[in-house]
Amino acid sequence: MREPIIAGNWKMFKTVSDAEIFINEVKGKAEVEGVESVICAPFTNLPALVDAVKGTKIKVGAQNFHWEESGAFTGEISGFMLNDLGVDYVIIGHSERREYFAETDQTVNKKVHASFKYDLTPIVCVGEKLEEREANQTKEVVKLQVNEALQGLTKDQAAKVVIAYEPIWAIGTGKSSTAEDANEVIAYIREQIAVSFDAEIANQVRIQYGGSVKPNNVRDYMGQSDIDGALVGGASLDPASYTQLVEGA
Ligand code: PEP
Repeated sequence: MREPIIAGNWKMFKTVSDAEIFINEVKGKAEVEGVESVICAPFTNLPALVDAVKGTKIKVGAQNFHWEESGAFTGEISGFMLNDLGVDYVIIGHSERREYFAETDQTVNKKVHASFKYDLTPIVCVGEKLEEREANQTKEVVKLQVNEALQGLTKDQAAKVVIAYEPIWAIGTGKSSTAEDANEVIAYIREQIAVSFDAEIANQVRIQYGGSVKPNNVRDYMGQSDIDGALVGGASLDPASYTQLVEGA
């Protein structure tokens, strides 16, 4: 049985005090037995969040990191530093990082390996652009992204990866993929993992859908055979809406 996982991606929103207020409001509510709940926040909020979620079921994630442990990489944060803070998850290869910060499948793969080195669970984002979907290339695109991201992992590591299938045209646009279409792509990703590793590993990997998930549509996705949760941007910023997402999972 795969435990569903709802992860909020706060992007570049919320100060430390906003984050503390948020946790106070969702404490005891966005905590549902059998559902993992993760808040992926800006770096500046992470120490306060790790502190605020103590004694709750809520986990904390970062939105990016550098694969090296330390060094002359001005402006970067390492996995070693995140682990030292008590962070559990890290988003890798979000489409905004690929588009605006030149992340590639190769840097994604380095980060996935580094996440295991520093005991962080990676949430690896993949997904096609609108023109790729219109050219019927969705499966080809995600297959390549997933294969490259997981390249060189052991079976044990691969089983622990969380993948977020996020069609880029659905992120922050209010246009979501239908639950059936998302499930078809996610089932295909699972098949590819079975080819690269084996069916047992593929069955353990949790694959989320992301792209304009809201409290009013989360149950449609969760009702699908292969969808194991959601990576949520906009709707994760409001405590009541985040709580409903976790309840809906
Ligand atoms: C995201 O940031 O990963 C995302 C899916 O955003 P939104 O839910 O706002 O579409």
